[in-house]
Amino acid sequence: MSILHHVGVLALQGDYAEHIDMLESNGANVSEIRLPDQLDEVDGLIIPGGESTTIVQLIDIYNFRSKLVDMASKGFPIWGTCAGMIVMANELTDKRPSPLQLMDIKVSRNAFGRQIDSFEENIIFSGVEGEIPAVFIRAPIVIDTSADVEILSVEEHLSKPVAVKQGNLLATSFHPELTNDSRIHKYFLSMLGK
Ligand code: GLN
Repeated sequence: MSILHHVGVLALQGDYAEHIDMLESNGANVSEIRLPDQLDEVDGLIIPGGESTTIVQLIDIYNFRSKLVDMASKGFPIWGTCAGMIVMANELTDKRPSPLQLMDIKVSRNAFGRQIDSFEENIIFSGVEGEIPAVFIRAPIVIDTSADVEILSVEEHLSKPVAVKQGNLLATSFHPELTNDSRIHKYFLSMLGK
């Protein structure tokens, strides 16, 4: 029997519409999350790419912070892509924004520099067979983790993690929602309802 997952996508700013399209084309039931109470109706949440300073500002304006911190610590699955990874980090090399500190990762924003602010590269992602096309757009990178963070993918030029998992929490530097490859979305769906 297949389980129909109900996934929330934080729809405050960024490319949430692309995540919704990809989830729906994989048979998930999806809701745009604009208010904290809506989190009670979903089995997991995606924090999309966009501008992390704006997303964090809106998270605080709409009072999401304490609820997300609480839910993340109780096993609620959350996946952050790009800006979403920055939002979930414990620590940033930048002063702004003030991240939610959900995951034991230290993250550097815009880590690939201005010259190469967007590129596509095939990556290996532990738990998914074969190569995955990864789109990086002014992408962050993970520069430090605690021992209980699993490194799922390392980018070959910087030799730093671009996909990490800590229990119920997943973060990727790149944007699977901007490709035709839905395997990372399926990977996240498999983390729901466990
Ligand atoms: N550079 C952006 C930031 O720091 C993230 C870019 C993205 O999400 N594609 O928030």
